[in-house]
Amino acid sequence: MTDPRETQLLATVPDGLHIGGHWRPATGGATLAVTDPATGDVVKNVADATPADGTAALDAACDAADHWAATPPRARGEILRRAFDLLTERADQVALLMTIEMGKPLAEARGEVTYGGEFLRWFSEEAPRIAGRYGVNPEGTGRMIVSRHPVGPCYLITPWNFPLAMATRKIAPALAAGCTAVVKPAEATPLTTMYLAQLLAEAGLPAGVLNVVTTSSPGPVSEAIIGDPRLRKLSFTGSTPVGRTLLRQAAGGVLRTSMELGGNAPFVVFEDADLDKAVQGALAAKFRNIGQACTAANRFLVHRSVAAEFTERVTKRVAEFRSGRGTEEGVTIGPLIDDAAVAKSASLVRDAVDRGAVLRLGGELVAGPGSFFPATVLGDVPAGSELLREEIFGPVLAVVPFDDEDEAVRLANDTEYGLVSYVYTRDLARGQRMIERLATGMMGLNLGVVSNAAAPFGGWKSSGLGREGGVEGIAEYLETKYTLTPDP
Ligand code: NAD
Repeated sequence: MTDPRETQLLATVPDGLHIGGHWRPATGGATLAVTDPATGDVVKNVADATPADGTAALDAACDAADHWAATPPRARGEILRRAFDLLTERADQVALLMTIEMGKPLAEARGEVTYGGEFLRWFSEEAPRIAGRYGVNPEGTGRMIVSRHPVGPCYLITPWNFPLAMATRKIAPALAAGCTAVVKPAEATPLTTMYLAQLLAEAGLPAGVLNVVTTSSPGPVSEAIIGDPRLRKLSFTGSTPVGRTLLRQAAGGVLRTSMELGGNAPFVVFEDADLDKAVQGALAAKFRNIGQACTAANRFLVHRSVAAEFTERVTKRVAEFRSGRGTEEGVTIGPLIDDAAVAKSASLVRDAVDRGAVLRLGGELVAGPGSFFPATVLGDVPAGSELLREEIFGPVLAVVPFDDEDEAVRLANDTEYGLVSYVYTRDLARGQRMIERLATGMMGLNLGVVSNAAAPFGGWKSSGLGREGGVEGIAEYLETKYTLTPDP
């Protein structure tokens, strides 16, 4: 790394575990290397926590719990709001940090700072709105009081693909609700979370309310925390297999859980769609974050009468993409997170082509350094191809033609997942039918991006449990208590 701006920025990021308001090395002093996926270079070494460090972080969260729960909601909200202001002031630094550790193009990283920051602002405003109810019981013999309380210490596990937004989407509602937390970022991208924890401390967050553990052993560290009877809530964003393992572990303590898991989004283009808008939406839904989003369109189901034209137009636009390190001017496709991700995209493309899909663009492996895979378009992808069943998590756009609305619905719903669906049609009644017929937690109707801090983000079926964002988001961190009192 030679860019002095990057060196200077990296020097401001803490490299320890954040426990009880202090930054300290891991027990035993082990460290974990963070690399730039565009070059393969190590950019920083951070503390590599042991299970005992995980327990120490939970100790700190438990020690701070009563005081934070008793802190007035307005005061909690004001700290989050100050953090939003600081993040907005430092948007360029945070964006650059994400590009360095995760690879996304700088313009997208700036977009994530805006999106991720909105959770701090939204939940700063939700904190004072936590409310209960009071009423006469139906018999008229008593008064019913329903009150809401922080669930208690939380464990928050985040993935690497949106290092800032996945953290703020959990941390902001937890803190707004009056919960303390231990957050464990993904091992590939811990720096953004550490920067955020430092920023929250600067915004006035008391010691111990938010603790950060970074580790190359997420399994054992998480087991120590999840198995501890003091923990009350687990919130996880990541893959469905890991989510299932964590749900089993959480059963021991009957923990409240929120699970944001995998997706396999259909992107349905009907024959009456505005094709210009559908192409535009397709590029955003597929290539945002280099295809590494749970909301990424995985299967492009296109009516047979417009499939050739749609594929042609999309291919032309994708051919104009520029691949490179996300800091370079004009780059639209950064690297994938690591070489395993490249191998996965390559193997899914090979499988589809072997089964008869038409390779329209890309597909060829690129020589290193860095973990790059080219933007790829596949036409006429046959049923049975692995990429129709599995989350691609790479820049591969796969088109499957269909013949009528019933077939589109059947194909769209033919997946264990149900996170998000995209539908393009000019027919309002058809749009309404699709809202009713698609098994999905979210839907973009004539739009290719749906995420918003004010909306309930989450999936059906194996895509998860619970919602993040919106008024629903804070409810995940609140317990309900019902009290009956006699007629006064
Ligand atoms: P992953 O499941 O491998 O890792 C996610 C997190 O879990 C990381 O912090 C990792 O360290 C941790 N982890 C891994 N094994 C663990 C274990 N045994 N115990 C405890 N923690 C463990 O997923 P990933 O590859 O980092 O992320 C990509 C996945 O995340 C995709 O499936 C994507 O769809 C999903 N995702 C979902 C959403 C959503 O909101 N639904 C958002 C972003 C990503």
